[in-house]
Amino acid sequence: AVPKDFLLAVEALTVSFDGFKAVNDLSLYVDENEIRVIIGPNGAGKTTVLDLICGRTKPTSGSIRFAGEELTTRREYEIVRAGVGRKFQNPSIYEDLTVFENLELSFPRGRDVFGALFFKRDGEVKSRVEEVAGMIFLKDHLGVQAGILSHGQKQWLEIGMLLIQSPRLLMLDEPVAGMSVAERVKTAELLHTIIRNQSVIVIEHDMKFVEDIATRVTVLHQGRVLSEGSMERVKNDPKVIEVYLGH
Ligand code: ADP
Repeated sequence: AVPKDFLLAVEALTVSFDGFKAVNDLSLYVDENEIRVIIGPNGAGKTTVLDLICGRTKPTSGSIRFAGEELTTRREYEIVRAGVGRKFQNPSIYEDLTVFENLELSFPRGRDVFGALFFKRDGEVKSRVEEVAGMIFLKDHLGVQAGILSHGQKQWLEIGMLLIQSPRLLMLDEPVAGMSVAERVKTAELLHTIIRNQSVIVIEHDMKFVEDIATRVTVLHQGRVLSEGSMERVKNDPKVIEVYLGH
């Protein structure tokens, strides 16, 4: 029996591609206000796990419960609506628009009684855009065209475009890839700000960054959980050392 208070409870999850189990009987429990980092060698199944959680890939068996709701039977857009945000490695921002406009466009729209989409009142949108821009270190760049931002700033903007939708779980695939040291430090700061209200799952290869951010680390190997716990615990686990040195 699984305690009910996990934000995310993945149980016995398996997906086969032509008989090959990319994820094999995997269980994963993520708390509220947690930064969970998933590490593991190439091909371990890290990306596939995120694809399964966000509904992009459907499992062969197993369950994914999020805030008490079963996600495996849901469509991708329903999972977004349930509060799961996913950022891929390549930023998908609108380069010709300003930072403000990118964030404004991502603001969740409601539907009126006739089913038509509508934006919230301007004042509400503006204050939320400014709040998120502050979190992602772009408060002084609201009028700047997104295309001329640095690589790191573009990554933050995309995180902001997810944050403005107030997801309860944010999933990030190698968020600091290509970032400068200073940008990495600020990204760690951003993640710590985010988890005051939300949870984050990060796939990461940069072990220094993992040490800076992880509440807990899950090590995947051949589609299974090889080890789990604090970074300290995981990095001293003989099974983990063997997999990394043997690679
Ligand atoms: P990681 O992110 O840890 O590098 P992946 O989740 O991308 O690993 O891949 C795990 C394994 O599953 C790899 O061997 C990969 O080739 C395989 N795989 C992933 N997606 C598919 C797919 N759609 N079809 C067939 N094989 C896949």
